[in-house]
Amino acid sequence: MEYFTQIKSSLGKQGVTLVAVSKTKTPEEILNVYNQGQRIFGENRVQELLEKQPLLPSDIQWHMIGHLQTNKVKYLAPFVDMIHAVDSLKLLRRIEREAANQQRCIDVLMQVKIATEASKFGFTPQELIVVGQELSSVSLSHVRICGVMGMASFVDDTDQVRSEFRMLKQIFDSLRTSHFTQTPQFNTISMGMSGDYKLAIEEGSTMVRIGSLIFGARG
Ligand SMILES: *Cc1c(COP(=O)(O)O)cnc(C)c1O
Repeated sequence: MEYFTQIKSSLGKQGVTLVAVSKTKTPEEILNVYNQGQRIFGENRVQELLEKQPLLPSDIQWHMIGHLQTNKVKYLAPFVDMIHAVDSLKLLRRIEREAANQQRCIDVLMQVKIATEASKFGFTPQELIVVGQELSSVSLSHVRICGVMGMASFVDDTDQVRSEFRMLKQIFDSLRTSHFTQTPQFNTISMGMSGDYKLAIEEGSTMVRIGSLIFGARG
């Protein structure tokens, strides 16, 4: 917790948005950080988010940062602010439908596989090019595609981590040029966690997801 104020102010100066990742943490722990001014919190499991959300202040902006199954979108649609890990057009269409049902607009990011280690989720850069072309055929009036999200490999090799972040920034730039020039809200690169957020910011991150540095290690 002692780091919170420090991190918050340094990110603020750099114009980087902080998502405080509160998974496994209690409502009391979250409220403690809330009371220091934080409003954006991230969770990676639907059930856990649904349990905590009603217990906490209603002006919290909840970000779903973990993998999301299409059949669970309806539970989040009434309140979720941003969904970071959109990894299929099917999921994107479902978010559109459920947001429309709630007469809401939900912000989303496209998850990109940037880590070399086998990770299950996210579009490969190649897939994303195809998806970009298909996007124009999906009518989205209750979803705003705001950018991309990625997780670097969990390795000590900072050159590798840096090059993965750099790749995500390049993918963001090329998507923006090819499909989102008329879309000012396409402005977010969600990359960087407790262990690598400084590198991520050097490589162009606009949003970092930090858990253990703020809340302490998870048990
Ligand atoms: C847990 C998690 C984080 C935060 O991890 P820390 O290392 O605790 O900062 C960030 N992003 C995602 C997707 C996570 O699941």
